Amino acid sequence: MANRNKQQLFDHYRKSAAVAGMSHPEGSLTCPLCWEPASFDTLSVEHIIPGSVGGNRIVLTCTTCNNTHGSLYDSHLSQFQKTKDGFNGQGTLPVILEVLGKRVTANIEWGDGFKNINIVGEASNPAEVAAMQADAEAGRFGELNLTINYGYIKNRFQTGLLRCAYLSLYKCFGYEYACTEIVQVLRRRICDMNQETPRLGSFIGAFRNGAVPYSDPYFIVPGNVNGVQFFMVAIRLKKQTESYHFVYMPAPCDRSDEFFEMMERCPRDNDGATLTIPHQLVFT
Ligand SMILES: [Zn+2]
Repeated sequence: MANRNKQQLFDHYRKSAAVAGMSHPEGSLTCPLCWEPASFDTLSVEHIIPGSVGGNRIVLTCTTCNNTHGSLYDSHLSQFQKTKDGFNGQGTLPVILEVLGKRVTANIEWGDGFKNINIVGEASNPAEVAAMQADAEAGRFGELNLTINYGYIKNRFQTGLLRCAYLSLYKCFGYEYACTEIVQVLRRRICDMNQETPRLGSFIGAFRNGAVPYSDPYFIVPGNVNGVQFFMVAIRLKKQTESYHFVYMPAPCDRSDEFFEMMERCPRDNDGATLTIPHQLVFT
């Protein structure tokens, strides 16, 4: 089954590459991420949105990108949603607990109106645990300081979302979309974490109210502001709970070189509070 999927995707993207005017040696394909040629054997099936956060659609990437991006980005998407779950009362949040100068590692359960704090003995200094117990037994109470370990890095998390959005558009529109210069700027941004532009915060954000009229892991809405065309890719991250995020992506057009400038100008309008998603013209 997996091999049949892989062969079907391979044949599909070979045709897509031909339509885009790209030439490939027989039996190979350009990896949509690193843009290097890869033979059939070195290509692997990759989730557009990681399976750990509810993704189920697939594309082909080279094995190197598949392996490295898992830990570089996918784990940060997963950890983000795990933290969200914790805040929504599902599962625990890892914290550093500090009382009267003693520090231990703990897990907290964030419930409705209560918090359970469990000290993780094996992750803490035994002397600090004992000293904290001695304080409690002697009735010495102090202010409780909690430092929550979110466990994800914002830049990696946002790059992970950008990668999901890029691959979803590649899935939909193939190489004709991916090979355009404006889109290549973003592809290079995904593959090189040292790049600081374009600034991810200007076109990536979260839907604050969470209600989205679709149940797909992602969907794509085309839009246009003053003649500059774009796609909004909505991405669902799902573990015990769900969160929705958006990534604005350029749509190749005469004025697409204005896209990043436009994104820098209007992030304040994209606060997710009043965005209306049209029911027509949605691609998944
Ligand atoms: Zn690659």
